[in-house]
Amino acid sequence: MQVIAIDGPAGSGKSTVGRALAERLGLQYLDTGAMYRGVAFAALRRGVDPADADPVAHLLATLELEVADRTVTVDGVDATIEIRGPEVTRSVSTVAANPAVRAELRSRQREWAERHGGGVIEGRDIGSVVFPDADLKVYLTASPEVRAARRTKEVADLDYETVARDIARRDALDQGREDSPLREAEGSVVVDTSDRSIDEIVDELLRLLAEAVGGSGT
Ligand code: C5P
Repeated sequence: MQVIAIDGPAGSGKSTVGRALAERLGLQYLDTGAMYRGVAFAALRRGVDPADADPVAHLLATLELEVADRTVTVDGVDATIEIRGPEVTRSVSTVAANPAVRAELRSRQREWAERHGGGVIEGRDIGSVVFPDADLKVYLTASPEVRAARRTKEVADLDYETVARDIARRDALDQGREDSPLREAEGSVVVDTSDRSIDEIVDELLRLLAEAVGGSGT
């Protein structure tokens, strides 16, 4: 089973790089942020306060979350668009700081990898906690301005200042939480994506993966 772990803050290029890398390797791709977003979506939909740890953990226990290549289904409802909306985006880091939520999603992520024979998996704690023995661990970064500009383009209805503020707030919560904070995993390769093309980055990662796999003697 081959696992490539990609972590980094919002707008660092994880999804774009992750999808391209998965395609080149013929592996499946998993966006674990979409899983956390799915839980936040379910809480909001059911009128559960995202900050209420026990009720959120309780609803997740029986929640059907399907993160496919481009679509996300939550208890049979297509949530692909709404999980990217401002409401979910503002509450997702609160939900993600809940240890019971993290434990459950961690186990679903590991099951997913088993089922698919590995994959390219992106998030915040993939190389540090979920797959510490991944074949390649990547930490993507980019300047705050570049990250905010990328996200502004994606969301269309929010201005740059609002997006930049939201990202800074979310990064602070993700880096400051007690359980599995966002950080560079030990042994990860750090890549700044600010001024580099996707192809260039993917080529570099493929080279590093070949080295890592070749060098491990397996
Ligand atoms: O990747 P994306 O920005 O969609 O992630 C949304 C949120 O989900 C992050 O801000 C973070 O709070 C949470 N997350 C996490 N651990 C992961 C993936 C995402 O805590 N592995």
